[in-house]
Amino acid sequence: MISLQREELEKYYVGELMIPSEIVAHVQGGNPLEHALLVLVKSGYSAVPVLDAKYRLQGTISKTIIIENMLGVEQFELDKLSSVRVEEVMNTDIPCLKKEDSFSKALGEVVNHPFVCVADENGYFDGILTRRAILKPLNKHFHTYNNKM
Ligand code: AMP
Repeated sequence: MISLQREELEKYYVGELMIPSEIVAHVQGGNPLEHALLVLVKSGYSAVPVLDAKYRLQGTISKTIIIENMLGVEQFELDKLSSVRVEEVMNTDIPCLKKEDSFSKALGEVVNHPFVCVADENGYFDGILTRRAILKPLNKHFHTYNNKM
């Protein structure tokens, strides 16, 4: 039987588990799709946050969105890479966490997303919380606690 001590896990909060904004690869809404594709391919990530010039969170952009938008009726329209801006096609329907949010709230959000953006009450970007960062303490806790039983 699996046993978890909820209070043990709730000592972790989003601010200490997240990847800080300084080391998160991102693009700006006004960038053309070719710049976003370059960032995604070079970084190896499938999606990255989109920020405005003041570092406020606007959405996320993924390789899938870019490829879908390049698809014309019969062929790929490569010229769209330079003529379409990221903010025209990015995903804006995204969850957002705050640094102060609890482990359990974060756990619920990463069930459906490999990463969730973290921003303050004014929308300024603080970083991202990855599913990996949530699973690590959960895995550690699971093995430590259940080995004691
Ligand atoms: P990972 O848990 O490392 O596999 O990351 C899951 C997803 O989070 C990646 O596919 C990216 O979309 C995003 N991600 C992780 N680390 C970064 C980073 N440093 N900068 C931008 N996006 C990241």
